[in-house]
Amino acid sequence: MLPLPWQETLWDTLNTSIEQERLPHAILISGPSGIGKVRLAKALAQHLLCSAEMTKYACGSCKGCQLLAAGSHADITYLEPEEPGKPIKIDPVRALCESLSKTAQQGGWKVAIIAPAEAMNINAANALLKNLEEPQPKTLLILVSHRPSLLSATIRSRCQKINMPIPDTAVANQWLTEVTGDQSAVDKVLFLAAGKPLLALDYLQSDNLQQRQSFEELIAQVRAGDISPLDAAQQAQKLDSTESIDWFSSYIHRLATTDLADQPIPALFGFSDKLLQARNWVVSGNNPNPQLLWEELFMDWLMVFAKRR
Ligand SMILES: [Zn+2]
Repeated sequence: MLPLPWQETLWDTLNTSIEQERLPHAILISGPSGIGKVRLAKALAQHLLCSAEMTKYACGSCKGCQLLAAGSHADITYLEPEEPGKPIKIDPVRALCESLSKTAQQGGWKVAIIAPAEAMNINAANALLKNLEEPQPKTLLILVSHRPSLLSATIRSRCQKINMPIPDTAVANQWLTEVTGDQSAVDKVLFLAAGKPLLALDYLQSDNLQQRQSFEELIAQVRAGDISPLDAAQQAQKLDSTESIDWFSSYIHRLATTDLADQPIPALFGFSDKLLQARNWVVSGNNPNPQLLWEELFMDWLMVFAKRR
């Protein structure tokens, strides 16, 4: 795995640290979601586990690289919530700390990535702290976070911080065009994704971008009071219920991590749960009347913001 074009300068800095044996014990990579923080973490992990010498990137062919590609390298741990939005609990963190304290099976580095690190609950974070206080040689812990302010100050202070901004539009645009081969769509989607290239790619690779865009507009219109929940429901019921509920959920997630990141609305979480409930209904084959389902959802959606005013 290679770093992304907008990470090259950072990559050079990291490489220099590796060459001069000045790599810290723990790194905290923070920045908005959708810009490739996990990708950088994984690229760095592979580079450390690669046994080729004097290369700028992992070679991709040595034993270390092959084990990693096969998903069977024993010296890397990747920790994430079991389900998006769920916490990372103490047991996997304990197991991770234990594996970091042992000798590397391949005789080189041991690397652990925790993403998103703010998903660790308090017990998990405390368990990790012990490890940060007693660093072992040739181990690297990479924390990836969209909301580093949610991490404890003690954890943050033990890490070297790398803050990744949203990349330059021209660089992101060029990369997206190379990956997708569709310049015309890229401009529009990159804008829709607030300049976050990986989020834009996600949009472009989902088949029904157009439908999704219209649906997101509908959500925004309901919120703004430009359309009644009743009329909006009439439009929404024509869509696949499960998929549009998923779009709604990711829309909310995006809203909560961007526009509303600094002014969270508690009612939004309640509404997220309602969406999940509605999804379960639909999936379980209870066949709720789609018009009624959407009427209720849009009504609740409107209430989320009404309460706030
Ligand atoms: Zn290699």
